[in-house]
Amino acid sequence: MRPRLLVLWRIGLVVFVIQLVIYSIIGYGISGIHNKAWEKFNGNSYVIADVDNKVPYGELINRRARQAGINGQIVASLIHAESSFQPRAHSPAGAYGLMQIIPSTWRQVNEQAKVCAGRHPGECTVECYYNEELNIRIGTLYLSQLVNRYEGNMVLALAAYNAGPGAVDKYGGIPPYDETVNYVNRVIGYWYELSSYSMPYTIFAEEQWEYIRTAIGWWCMVTLLGMVWIAGRLHRYYHSWRWR
Ligand SMILES: [Zn+2]
Repeated sequence: MRPRLLVLWRIGLVVFVIQLVIYSIIGYGISGIHNKAWEKFNGNSYVIADVDNKVPYGELINRRARQAGINGQIVASLIHAESSFQPRAHSPAGAYGLMQIIPSTWRQVNEQAKVCAGRHPGECTVECYYNEELNIRIGTLYLSQLVNRYEGNMVLALAAYNAGPGAVDKYGGIPPYDETVNYVNRVIGYWYELSSYSMPYTIFAEEQWEYIRTAIGWWCMVTLLGMVWIAGRLHRYYHSWRWR
């Protein structure tokens, strides 16, 4: 029993180390895929690019994005993530319309843009927020403000669009909120579908890698438990932690 257990212990140790190395390499690879996908997105985000007319509100999106000096494909991707192109979308957080704008942001942008000049007296109402054209005008202008604020960094602008510039400034980057990180990933994923660029590796593959990594992580734990068990038996046999 003794030599056999000792051999098993050594094999377990090797297997454990191999698993740990593979686990780390996959983790490193996933973050590499991620960074590449984000860099490619950011690097091309300043290009003015239209969506084709298969995209809902495509014509409106292209016109207003061009006016605001931003990429129409990114605006369409943002609308997809925000409202799934539902003009009367209303979130529990109090955001309205296609680009999910909150009234305070609307007011702030509208002070300069005056999108409702001559339309109605007084403040804008829900009917303005739900108006596709007005909503896209305010949303694109707001996004372009954020892009300027973050010196052309579209990833940060998107994070700020979702979590507010206060949160981005506080963390000096993308706030570590699951919702915001998922949101940025979704917008970037949609952008890869709309643009002529392909993902360095597809999001799907990235998820698969994540799955494989989790499985290896669990096997790592199982190996570790097995080794603890073997160590216990060896200790009982030798009455010591020195086995030879
Ligand atoms: Zn109005």
